[in-house]
Amino acid sequence: WTAAPPTLRDVFLAGRAHGPKTFLVYEDDRASFEAFSRATLALADDLVRGGVRPGDRVAIAMRNLPEWPVAFFAALLAGAIATPLNAWWTGPELDHGFADSGAVAAIVDEERLARIAERRGAYPALGRVLVARAPAPAGARGVESLTDVIGPVAAWAGLPEGRLPDIGTEPEDPATLFYTSGTTGRSKGAVGTHRGGACAVLAHPFSAARSFVRRGEPVPAPDPAAPQKVALLSIPLFHVTGCFATLVTSLHRGSRLVMMRRWDLAGALALIERERCTSAGGVPTIAFQLLDGRDAGTHDLSSLETISYGGAPAPAELVRRLRAAFPHAQPATGWGMTETSGTFTHHQAEDYVHHPESCGPPLPICEAKSVGPDERDLPPGEVGELWVKGPNVVAGYWNRPEADAQVFRDGWMRTGDLARVDPEGFVTIVDRAKDMLIRGGENIYCGEVENALHEHPAVVDAAVVAIPHPTLGEEPGAVVALARGREATEEELRAFVAGRLAAFKVPVRILLRDETLPRNPNGKILKSELRKLF
Ligand code: ATP
Ligand code: MG
Repeated sequence: WTAAPPTLRDVFLAGRAHGPKTFLVYEDDRASFEAFSRATLALADDLVRGGVRPGDRVAIAMRNLPEWPVAFFAALLAGAIATPLNAWWTGPELDHGFADSGAVAAIVDEERLARIAERRGAYPALGRVLVARAPAPAGARGVESLTDVIGPVAAWAGLPEGRLPDIGTEPEDPATLFYTSGTTGRSKGAVGTHRGGACAVLAHPFSAARSFVRRGEPVPAPDPAAPQKVALLSIPLFHVTGCFATLVTSLHRGSRLVMMRRWDLAGALALIERERCTSAGGVPTIAFQLLDGRDAGTHDLSSLETISYGGAPAPAELVRRLRAAFPHAQPATGWGMTETSGTFTHHQAEDYVHHPESCGPPLPICEAKSVGPDERDLPPGEVGELWVKGPNVVAGYWNRPEADAQVFRDGWMRTGDLARVDPEGFVTIVDRAKDMLIRGGENIYCGEVENALHEHPAVVDAAVVAIPHPTLGEEPGAVVALARGREATEEELRAFVAGRLAAFKVPVRILLRDETLPRNPNGKILKSELRKLF
């Protein structure tokens, strides 16, 4: 699909046309589309004047603040590669982000500035650092205040109109450098193009442009008279789902984006009620917490029309519970990777309720297939490695030719996930290839066993990992968190799983915990830590 608008610059311009409507909401700050656009153009101009050249990396290292989207689009409009760094990173991870990307400039918040200032000597490429919402600290070399450039949010509407930097942006130019979550090893930079980012947003189910993309037609300008949607942003912008599927879709569609610095249930409930949010979610853990919030009955959540989540396995039981608790909201899920610019498959409404184990078909203009160990396509319904293709799949990894050679094949990308693709094209993820375990020659998909455990009413969280075994190779072990006030014994849970799955899949040991399992910030269970428990 090559129809306009093929670049993220075009997406910015389309969003800017939403004018005086409110776009960004953060605590008491509010910025219209117009005000956001003025601040972005002012910063883009400043970056160009400060020496940023096309292809340079501009790092963004901050929590979800209104300055984040400004920094992201300013970097893109300056022709640079916007490089969001994980705000949870400290010490060596942050060093990796700066050294690996070679960022020449960084836009940061105060907490990140403190971390960077300590280690700056290790980032020789880094020139300017702009700190948001704070004055430049005295004596810090090269650190300036972002407020000196764009002012506080309340003043953005009064900035001069600004002009787009005169840079010839082409659809295939690199636009973004997002880092993978580092679940299976060291975090890798994935380089997305302008066209890829634009497609990820316009083909997204939350985009009004989707049907045009499906038909291969040019996308018309968004309709300014359409009723405004209100999205709760509770996941980090430095991951592709927060950025593309939430922020950039909201910009293009003209939705209000209600930003949370970080997720907390009480804060989310208050914001949903106050701002009449129409969508919320992020990762399965958040959806489970929204169910608790709904049970507590303290807030009016009736404005919700969509509750969506992905990024980690969602037990089949989640959609049934959401359906019962939120009769007016559509549950939706999806599968995606940093390398697919976020959402790649999407599943909602009745399809999802009837096939709760699947994460839906690929977005329009995308393809998925399951491939055997000999790299041959498998017949529909057979489990193999999931291979994907589409304009939203990144061009490659940053400075990692070996990873590129391993992963990209004739226009397809190997995902490292095991999946089934049924004849209608619905994708069901069974496991990460690295998580599957083999017990005496029999494959055990951890996800399947986790799902069975989740069906037990006392279980709130479950993870299955391999325990090494001298003759069988590996055996399944499980770590299970029980709901507050509920009880279950190891024997009872093993019998419960045995009632649902073949005997060889029943965990040989189940460790019970009262607290939740260790997860990284985007909801993925840290299995490496759990393996140490056995
Ligand atoms: P790294 O690649 O650095 O090891 P990561 O793969 O966790 O980390 P991400 O790109 O954030 O980094 O996550 C993509 C992965 O998340 C997918 O490959 C898949 O394993 C998992 N995932 C995403 N969505 C789902 C889903 N709906 N169900 C199950 N797993 C999912
Ligand atoms: Mg990965």
